[in-house]
Amino acid sequence: MAYLHTLDEVDVKGKRVLLRVDLNLPMENGRVSDATRIERALPTITELSKKGGIVILLAHFGRPKGSRVEADSLRQVLPALEHYLKQPVAFADDCVGRSASQIIDALKDGQIALLENTRFHKEEEQNDASFAAELAKNGDIFVNDAFSAAHRAHASTEGLAHILPAYAGRSMQTELEALDQALLNPQRPLIAIVGGAKVSTKLDLLGNLVSKTQYLVIAGGMANTFLAAQGFNVGKSLCEYELAPTARDVLAKAKTAHCQIILPIDVVVAKKFEAHAPSSVCSLDKIGADDMVLDIGPKSIAQVDAILRNCKTLVWNGPFGAFELPPFDQGTKRIAQSAAQLTIEGKIRSIAGGGDTVAALSQAGAAEKFSYVSTAGGAFLEWLEGRTLPGVAALEK
Ligand code: AMP
Repeated sequence: MAYLHTLDEVDVKGKRVLLRVDLNLPMENGRVSDATRIERALPTITELSKKGGIVILLAHFGRPKGSRVEADSLRQVLPALEHYLKQPVAFADDCVGRSASQIIDALKDGQIALLENTRFHKEEEQNDASFAAELAKNGDIFVNDAFSAAHRAHASTEGLAHILPAYAGRSMQTELEALDQALLNPQRPLIAIVGGAKVSTKLDLLGNLVSKTQYLVIAGGMANTFLAAQGFNVGKSLCEYELAPTARDVLAKAKTAHCQIILPIDVVVAKKFEAHAPSSVCSLDKIGADDMVLDIGPKSIAQVDAILRNCKTLVWNGPFGAFELPPFDQGTKRIAQSAAQLTIEGKIRSIAGGGDTVAALSQAGAAEKFSYVSTAGGAFLEWLEGRTLPGVAALEK
């Protein structure tokens, strides 16, 4: 990468490498229920270990808010980590102090240790300089491989990079390469799909995307606010009426920037927000006073599909409807499958991200066919907003 320090620039043999990874894994009954984040961290851990580095993993887990909460101990992810790495991983009860240094001092080249949750110390989230210096005592270099935590300026994501020579890990590198190709140097036409519940959480993102894309599809509950702003009655739908002026601003800004906004032209409505609630398709002027818009209709699906076929790059965040409740998953599913097929045929480069989006694409069987799926939530959204992520900026040349 031209603008970041990467592992290509450093000989790690015999060096103690403080490696920040994302091990904030979903758990069910004490076991890791989705190991995607471990899988993403594997290439860097393995490369460092094979090259003879002493690999010291730093990570957070949950929200212990600066105190030791046993339920948030990283010890619980150790079995899954060892399983995927196919080698033993030492564990230190603390990320600083004697318990960390004793474990680390006993490691030989190529061996791996996991240090306890960085967020057991309140200084972590405060990006406290002396806490970062304590962490740094255990390393010769710092490698950050946790893009998903890079929007936070914490001691283990940002502070350390100012104390030790700092490099991007392979997962961070792959993620940024994929994202840069999508928004900074995309093949055009570029289409963005922004769905999900509320406009209020995605305003900055819409503002940034209208200036970068040729087509911006606004979907999900958010679309209701735009429809209401244009004078349509959206009944009992999720809608932020107070944001109607903001929605009109976005539409005006898009016009100036020559970005075409695509809103639903028909919708699926129901009287109840629940799975298999009786539903019907209707045009925008037929939404009843007690209707809830829960998905886009077939004409809208066809419209988005046709535009997608003319585009070379897709960036997607947020579902088209209440995808957790069938049959209101159809819009998301159909567009996801269409984008996946176009990707496989080499006609489009598709990038998606954000928690619900990954779940929705996986449910549609489309996630693994996309060019890149980011598992980062907040960091992906901040990147879509065009912001500088402090954890990334600290690795820049
Ligand atoms: P977000 O976290 O903003 O991406 O929003 C995702 C959530 O938006 C999902 O839980 C969806 O069920 C919800 N959602 C999408 N479309 C609608 C809709 N038309 N009405 C209510 N909720 C929706």
